[in-house]
Amino acid sequence: MNVDFIIVGKGLAGTLLANELLRQNKTFVVFDNTDQPKASLVAAGLINPVVFRRMTKSWLVDDAFPCMETTYRQLEDLLNVKLYFPGRMMRILHEDGVVFWKEKAFANKLEFYLDTEPDINFTNLHISNTFSFGCVNKSGRLDIQKLIYSFSELLEQKDLVKKEKFDFGKLTFKADLVSYMNITAKKIIFCEGPSVSQNPFFKNLIFKHSKGEILELEIQELKLNEIVSGDIFVMPIGGNRYKVGATYSWDHFDWEITDSAREELLIKLGNVVSANPEILDQKAGIRPTMHDRKPVIGFHPKYPQIAIFNGLGSKGVLLGPYFARQFAEFLVGTSDYIHPEADIKRYF
Ligand SMILES: Cc1cc2nc3c(=O)[nH]c(=O)nc-3n(C[C@H](O)[C@H](O)[C@H](O)COP(=O)(O)OP(=O)(O)OC[C@H]3O[C@@H](n4cnc5c(N)ncnc54)[C@H](O)[C@@H]3O)c2cc1C
Repeated sequence: MNVDFIIVGKGLAGTLLANELLRQNKTFVVFDNTDQPKASLVAAGLINPVVFRRMTKSWLVDDAFPCMETTYRQLEDLLNVKLYFPGRMMRILHEDGVVFWKEKAFANKLEFYLDTEPDINFTNLHISNTFSFGCVNKSGRLDIQKLIYSFSELLEQKDLVKKEKFDFGKLTFKADLVSYMNITAKKIIFCEGPSVSQNPFFKNLIFKHSKGEILELEIQELKLNEIVSGDIFVMPIGGNRYKVGATYSWDHFDWEITDSAREELLIKLGNVVSANPEILDQKAGIRPTMHDRKPVIGFHPKYPQIAIFNGLGSKGVLLGPYFARQFAEFLVGTSDYIHPEADIKRYF
């Protein structure tokens, strides 16, 4: 079997790249080890165009945001499901935060993304009225799990998926092609999320993965339409259900849920929300993140048939579509540009 590309991994990175290559009428096969956990099936899918700590725009947001919106809407049309839920995020502001918000909103040209004046009208019976709030209008969420499952169904219908673990020992090189068992491709692109640390071709890049845990709760009385963000986020997902997260740990790289993360999240939730949550689910996963929190894209310095698309652990839902499009255009030869701060060349 001859194809243009082999893609290894079918989380957010593999899915977005496969979608771009489909749009370009390229042929490919996707390998997906279904026994392996996926960060994308844990992620909350929150979209935040602002860096609150500094009150600046998120990196590349002016380009990435429109690309994100068109991509998720195109995927909704393609898959005939609702995936993208734009909405408002209310940021909890403490006393000095109000002045900081107003000053930086203008200075850093954030008007498109948020209300420059703190919101004095936002109230909720079950949220402490001691806070002020700043409103981010261009927030929302992606139903990332539905995206992964629905896109998988499409690929399966087209017979483009191999549900098996990719075995590096079986990869061979022929001139400027790669072969894997009976498949020959022009390029192979690894989109393995946090498992990249075991990839013999890329394991020496500088990763800074982090473990995260989130809760799914039912809170009958809360009746919240907006995402609330403080030490944690509380994100409505419909039917009195909320996602609450997330923890960060740079010491543990297992996928086990823990009592300590659950307690941490419930204590932080209790500082903001006075209501009785029922825990429906708890999930843990590893964010695939590089040392500088930027994606990593490009070709192996020694084997130009081998490429990587990874490092979406920070703001991946927002940045993923922009970089998937950029890399797909590079792969099919319609562009020769990869953003230098995301280019794998920064490691060589
Ligand atoms: C707790 C938590 C909360 C998060 N919340 C958010 C959020 O709110 N907003 C946001 O933007 N981002 C969030 N993220 C980050 C998000 O997870 C990433 O942006 C993104 O999902 C990573 O996708 P990925 O495709 O790179 O990795 P993954 O989803 O892990 O996919 C990797 C894929 O590679 C496959 N694979 C690996 N090795 C092999 C092999 N040898 N053979 C075959 N298949 C293989 C796996 O099976 C899988 O299909 C969160 C992450 C976590 C853990």
